[in-house]
Parts: sequence; C-alpha cells; structure tokens
Amino acid sequence: MQLGEMGKRMEKSKRTHFAGELRAVHAGQDCRLFGWVHRRRDLGNLIFIDLRDRSGIVQVVFNKELQPEAHAAAEQLRSEFVVAVEGEIALRARPNPELPSGEIEILARRVTLLNPAATPPFVVEDDTTATEETRLRYRYLDLRRPRLARNLALRHRVVFEMRRALDELGFYEIETPILTRSTPEGARDYLVPSRIHRGQFYALPQSPQLFKQILMMAGFERYFQIARCFRDEDFRADRQAEFTQLDLEMSFVCADDIFAVIERVVERACAAAGVAIRTPFRRMAYAEAVRRYGTDKPDLRFDMELRLVSDLFAPAREPLGMVGHVYALVAPGAASWSRRQLDELNEIARTAGARGAYTVKLTGQGVQSSLERLLGTEGVRALVAATGARAGDLIVAVGTEHEKKGLDAAAWAAGQVRLWLGEKLNLMDRRRWEFCWLTDFPLFEWSEAEQRWVSAQHPFTGIVEDDLDKLDDPARHGEIRSLGYDLVLNGVELGSGSVRIHRAEVQQRVFRALGLTKEQARRRFGFFLEALRYGTPPHGGIALGLDRFVMLLAGERSIRDVIAFPKTTAAQDLMAEAPAGATAAQLRELGFTAAQLKAWGWTDAQELRAAGYSDEELRAAGLL
Ligand code: ASP
Repeated sequence: MQLGEMGKRMEKSKRTHFAGELRAVHAGQDCRLFGWVHRRRDLGNLIFIDLRDRSGIVQVVFNKELQPEAHAAAEQLRSEFVVAVEGEIALRARPNPELPSGEIEILARRVTLLNPAATPPFVVEDDTTATEETRLRYRYLDLRRPRLARNLALRHRVVFEMRRALDELGFYEIETPILTRSTPEGARDYLVPSRIHRGQFYALPQSPQLFKQILMMAGFERYFQIARCFRDEDFRADRQAEFTQLDLEMSFVCADDIFAVIERVVERACAAAGVAIRTPFRRMAYAEAVRRYGTDKPDLRFDMELRLVSDLFAPAREPLGMVGHVYALVAPGAASWSRRQLDELNEIARTAGARGAYTVKLTGQGVQSSLERLLGTEGVRALVAATGARAGDLIVAVGTEHEKKGLDAAAWAAGQVRLWLGEKLNLMDRRRWEFCWLTDFPLFEWSEAEQRWVSAQHPFTGIVEDDLDKLDDPARHGEIRSLGYDLVLNGVELGSGSVRIHRAEVQQRVFRALGLTKEQARRRFGFFLEALRYGTPPHGGIALGLDRFVMLLAGERSIRDVIAFPKTTAAQDLMAEAPAGATAAQLRELGFTAAQLKAWGWTDAQELRAAGYSDEELRAAGLL
C-alpha cells in the first residue's frame, strides 16, 4: 500500500474506540482503531495482532478464509508498525484474564498501514530486559511500554487534581523565573552565563523560595506552582538534576492552616490515583521521632520502636568502647537466624555508624547471648524484660563509639538497623499509607565539614518565639527550635516547609548567627531583605516532591519511571545527548577567551578565526 493513499484515508478516518477500553459490552459493535503493532503471531490461516494505543492493548484476528485481503496485509506487519484497523468487536471463545480487554477481540475486516517502523532495539513490553541505558537512549520506545504510559497518565491525573483542589481553596498559580539568581536551598547552583552582561551569571532556581515569599509581600496571600527546581548535586541514586515540586505559600497562617491545605490536596491527589487515605495526618515532634524510630522520617507501617537501654548496658559500655546512648530493638521471629544472617546484621549496624549489633536470641530452649559475658545472666534477663521480647524473638542492641555534636548518633544508627530489619522480616504492610507531620525541628545543625552551625532547612525558616533570645548566644544555637515541618510518607520525606520569618530584624539576626556579615547578607539577599521592610504579612508554606509522590502512588521504586525524560544519575539526557558542547562562536559571544577554548581542546586557529577571534587573541593564546 502506498503511504499517500493512506494519508488520504486518514483524513476521513475517525477513531471509534480506544483499544484498552474495550469490554464485553462492546461486543457486536463495529470499530475503527489506531495504534501500534505490539506483537504479531502468525498461525498460517490466522494471524493475531496485539494492537496497542495509549489506553492499552487489544487482540485483533485476521482470518484468511473470511478476509483474505486483510489477512494478506497483516502478513506484512511487523512490531511497532503504525496501523488503522477496522472490524467487529466479538466475544472471545477463550477470554484472557491477564488483559483488561481480554474478554473480546477484533475480527479484522481491513488493516491500513499508516507508517512502518525500523526494527526497535528492544521489544516494547513491560518486562523488558533492555538495560536502563538503552531504554533512556530510546525513551520514545520505552514510553510506549504500557507501564510507563500508565505512570505518566497517573501523574497527569494527580497534578490535575492538585491544581483543581488548590483552585477551589483560593490559590493562584503564578510562575516564577527560571533565569534568576542563587537561591538558598544549600545545594550547588546551575549557572547560565549572560551574553549581554559579560562575566555575570543567572542561576537556575533550586526552588522558588524567595519569589514565593515576595509574592506574599506583594499581597497574593495564596500562591502555588508546579515548579521545576534545579540542583547540581553529585551522583545520587534517586535524585534528578531537575525535579518538580508542588510549591505553595500562604499569608496570615500558622502551621495548622498549611497542614489542613496539604492534607486536602494530598487526599484529593491520592483519590485521583485510587488510593483512599485518612486525614488529618499524625504529628510527631522531631525529638520523639528520633527517640522512638531513630530518624526524622519514620516509616510507620511497622512498629519495632527503639528502647533506650543505656542503663542496663552500663557494664558493657566501657569494655566495648561505647559512648552516648544504647538502644535495643526487638526483631520478631528472628531468634532462628543463622550465624551468617547475624554477621550481615552486624555489618549493617557498622555501616550505620554503630559499634556493632549485639544480639540476644530467645529460642525455645532459653536465652542465648554473647552479652552474658559482659552483662551477666541477670543483666541479659533484665534486657529481655525491658524490651518485652518473647520466645522466638531476637533482641538487637546498638550503640556507638563516636559522639556527634547535636545528634543522638546511636539512635540514628539503630533507626537504620530498624529499617533494614523491617525490610528483611517483611514487616512493612505495603497497602498502608502512613503520612506523618514532623515538627519541632532544631533551627540549626552542626556541620562537621564547616565546623559551624548551618540552617537545618534554609535561613528563612521561622523561629519559636521563646527561643529568639538564644539567637545571639552561639553556645545555645543547638537549642533553638524552628517553625519548620516535614511531611513524611512511609519513611520517605515528601516535602518540607515552615512558617517563615517575617520581621526584617529577626532575619538579620539569623544571618548574623549563620556567620554572614551585613555586607554578605546584603549582597546575596539584599532585594529580599529590603522587601521584608515594606509590610510583610506573617506567612508560611511548603514544597512537596512531586516525582517522589507519584512514584509512591504508582508503586514504582525509581523516580525515573514517573518522569517522561529523566536524566541518568550522572545528570545526562541520553536521548537528547545533553549536556553537549557549544560552538566556538557561541562561546566567544559569552566572553570565553581563545585561551579558555584552547584549554578545552580547540587547537584549530582557522576555526577560531572563523568564530570571530582576532589574530591578536589567537597569538595571545599561543595558537598562532
Ligand atoms: N523551599 C523549600 C524546599 O524547596 C520548601 C519550603 O520551605 O517551602 O525544600
């Protein structure tokens, strides 16, 4: 068949159904479908085609005796050819329960080839064996896999519902600039050199933080944005150089108001994904979360709380060289673990920063523990009593050799052991959606690398009124409580926000506490500090990581599976091949010297001359 002829036919053609939406009720109807040849099975007199469009797959049958012409055309079809199929929807003699449209099939009368396809480098199917690299290189084929198509459809529904809910709540969607200046989220900026202003740079926003606060100063009161954010971090497994946040800000509010808005929006977004959740969400203070779960993002789908057993451990601490607290966990049913499993547990504890994992086995025969040597039989018995462990359980005690300023290192190590045990023993109920607000964070945290206090979140986070005085006393910086909060879902941090500082004078004191001179603060945030002085309402907000949220709703393990065109962990776009080089002419316009180009491997003087570099510049660079 000629393509031209097909094109003409296309003009008249109207699709009657989507393939994946066909059900038994449609039996008997005529249909005209469009899509891709997902798979073709040739049984001689019968050819079967799985026809795929964005909604899913349906089986099409070509019968040589009944429709010889269509059957002959189907013989020519190959994977990923684009076709139009006309025929009758019929009940299948043997339904396929694996396929949503499996009760019916299409008895084809005619098939039109709309476009052939080159042989794809991998078979388009959910259980692909292609490497992620190949999949990302041919992302347009990868996205044809029903699973990814479903994920992006889900993402659309979730975002759409968020927009609708926020509109109903009186929020305005307002865009903030992509070409801007450094924002204060603490990661490395992506810089864009300015052509017009030589030697000056735009920074891509790490978040719309300053702009959204300024929108409150401007009087908008309720803002949101599905905001793209950019952070130039080193290789991190599940991070993207650019990612999307649901970013919002409100005026004249306290944390409770912001929580109520987010609970409503999240509830609606979950409903759009077919997930029913309970609101209001649980709340937990940071200190409590660390003490009970050893983390500021507790996975509350299982219990296994940390038990503080420092006192009971007293006789063992010195011989084991432990400092700080000791925590115990009860691993249900793990008393039968082998030497090898216990070694693995010990290794996990060590990697988490603990001295090791000290265990007590409660088998049917009694108590078994190497700790008996240090704690005595009585001591071990007391440990069992304190933890409430029962026959069949394994008690795991965790302590550290090194203290960390402002942190209960043993609790954090125990928290990681807890998570590992939870996975290992399959304690997380995968159908549970455990949201939790984390509150009462410390304002500052100690940076070992910089040997100073830094903002735990960002420097605009509000401060508990009673703690304001401590701002001017460096010895008490570790005690200051912030008005920040995190939203955690099943042990994953979904987002964070705060009630902000809205008084210019307090903001100045925070900068001072962070070691910024007046001049440094003015240079970085001058416009913002100035704006604060012109009648700033009390305000606060939050940003939720949209990629991560959709990933959890889709039941995926990688955020790359819910982003249409993600980058690799090395921040590359393998399909578009970004980042990519620039031409010498572009670089010259941006103010790069011939010597800089030479350092990047340009050695052809002729080429640089053509790009506009003068002989004098080329000579200065040693290229002539
Ligand atoms: N700007 C913060 C972030 O991106 C969130 C916020 O404070 O609203 O993490």
